[in-house]
Amino acid sequence: MHELTLAESVVAIAEAAARRAGARRVTRVRLALGLLAHAETDTLLYCCQLAARDTLAADAEFQAERRPAQAHCGDCGQRAEIASLPARCPRCGGENLALEGGDEMRVVDIGIR
Ligand SMILES: [Zn+2]
Repeated sequence: MHELTLAESVVAIAEAAARRAGARRVTRVRLALGLLAHAETDTLLYCCQLAARDTLAADAEFQAERRPAQAHCGDCGQRAEIASLPARCPRCGGENLALEGGDEMRVVDIGIR
């Protein structure tokens, strides 16, 4: 499952950060998911909890937020931020949008103690 692979890397990042800081526990992990990231938010959070078992992040609270993607309209040249799909150009209403980025997943914040 794709989400589980992502979750395992999230937990590995959190554990590595905790070890570097000499912490005993990861208390919180905050993720940013691009609008186009191929991961279901709820599934990913659930997988994080599974992947965190028997790690420093076993009791951590996992949170994820969606980030908008950038788009460039092929019809009128407008650049826009797209927060949901399907999307239309906010200027001309066209659907000829080229999306840029938005498929990233990043760990934005880790709480340790
Ligand atoms: Zn347009």
